[in-house]
Amino acid sequence: MKHQTSLDGPYHATWLQMLALCPMKAKLSLEEPPQSTSLAQFKGSVVHRMLEIGSGDLFGAIQHCKEKLDAPLIDEVDIGFSEECQEFFEGACKNAPQHETTHTEFSFMTDIGGYQFEGTIDALWEMPNGEVWLVDWKTNKTLPSQFNLDNNLQFGVYAFMCRQHGIHIDKIAWIHLRDWIPYKRASSKTNFATTTSLAQWAAEQDFDITPGGKSKLPVGSLRGPGVHLTQRTDAQLDEVEREVKRLIKMIKFNLYPRCMYDQVCSFCGYKLSCGATLEGHNNIKVSKKEYQDDEE
Ligand code: SF4
Repeated sequence: MKHQTSLDGPYHATWLQMLALCPMKAKLSLEEPPQSTSLAQFKGSVVHRMLEIGSGDLFGAIQHCKEKLDAPLIDEVDIGFSEECQEFFEGACKNAPQHETTHTEFSFMTDIGGYQFEGTIDALWEMPNGEVWLVDWKTNKTLPSQFNLDNNLQFGVYAFMCRQHGIHIDKIAWIHLRDWIPYKRASSKTNFATTTSLAQWAAEQDFDITPGGKSKLPVGSLRGPGVHLTQRTDAQLDEVEREVKRLIKMIKFNLYPRCMYDQVCSFCGYKLSCGATLEGHNNIKVSKKEYQDDEE
């Protein structure tokens, strides 16, 4: 994953998504870039590499990522780390829907609203019914809501870029790899952020995912459907262009307001730098532990 290094572009879709959520955080991420790669980020990169080359060669993937990442790495690559990477990879091999892969790690440069963008899409899948899916592998613990998937600017930018290159995207798939790691003991599952796919999956199994739902999934059960879908119409992609222009104009005017969502702040590593805590702005609880939850 490349990091944004300049306010003048070229811009990365992930950074733009951060800018949309909290302009202050996006600015601070350039002024005070993380000094090291977190274990969660490194795990995400290793799993992406294994999926990109379609091989369970964990050692090769670790070596590749060590050479590629510019930030110094933490030295915690232990047996638990290796096992989890393998579980992610094997879960994907076993459960991913049938498809032809058209591209992996598809890199692009494109112009959106007069601004240069660069980025990499994890994969494009051609499905048996002729649809083309834009695929984003995710090792995150947290599943976004359907609302977040439908409004995710990063996905909008990726789909816009594909349109620029003459590729029509029918569906965008957030592949939640953790869904495919089977439970080791019977577990209940409550989800406050529910996607349409998760709700359907739970209904098919007659399983209650609402908060307070008491049913349990048996040992060996998967944790969810894995594939969580959204899509973008042409009209929505036109709106993406307008949103990109609005956000980048904000940079040009040097405007970086803070976000208004406590949920975003609770996982933010800049809560001490941004001043929001001092002003009681976002009801932030400061922990001694620096949060680093930005997995790929
Ligand atoms: S703590 Fe909240 S307001 Fe401050 S930079 Fe982070 S996300 Fe933005």
